[in-house]
Amino acid sequence: MTVHNLGDQNSILNQFIAEIRDSNVQKDSMRFRRNIERIGEVLAYEFSKELAYSSKNVETPLGTKSMHLIQDQVVICSILRAGLPLHQGLLNYFDTAENGFISAFRKHKGNEDNFEVVVDYFAAPSLDDKVLVLTDPMLATGKTLENVLEGLKKHGTPKQIHIVSVIGAKAGVEYIKDIFPENTHLWIAAIDPKLNARGYIMPGIGDAGDLAYGEKL
Ligand code: URA
Repeated sequence: MTVHNLGDQNSILNQFIAEIRDSNVQKDSMRFRRNIERIGEVLAYEFSKELAYSSKNVETPLGTKSMHLIQDQVVICSILRAGLPLHQGLLNYFDTAENGFISAFRKHKGNEDNFEVVVDYFAAPSLDDKVLVLTDPMLATGKTLENVLEGLKKHGTPKQIHIVSVIGAKAGVEYIKDIFPENTHLWIAAIDPKLNARGYIMPGIGDAGDLAYGEKL
């Protein structure tokens, strides 16, 4: 797997990341969602450089111009509910992409810190010979992505997988390296050092789903 940690370079991307981390700015959930969407747009632009292109003639009112345009069929699959603003950011650029949605939640065992990831809803088109873009805004343990990859196997075999994530934990990034095919790319805006006992990324941002859409029971 090739890891592209785009927060390593100076760019406006780090302004968006700083805002989603900042507990004062986080109070504005519309700004939080929009920042995640903007991060999705930046990552979409970056991974578009790895797709297959072919020449096509475009007719202008004054002539013909040959252009290199994307030839891959892209399927964006996102994990509910935190993945929704990231999904929208990707779709803003890949407006002809097909879409898939997956539900996954952490089932905590009593008050204990350990939990299992339950994946129970899949709505996705065929992935055969397409480029699968799998989004997970918070790549914490990597278990969610592992379960999702397993569940998506019945939808066919993509020619390539791009994972798009906002913030990852070092351990989670290492974990998925062994699970995904070698030609997979991970596009990520920041990698943080640790997970806490409840599997949250440290310093991270907190609960991305709650910050975008409000607390749940
Ligand atoms: N999911 C979140 O929303 N935040 C984390 O830190 C980890 C998983």
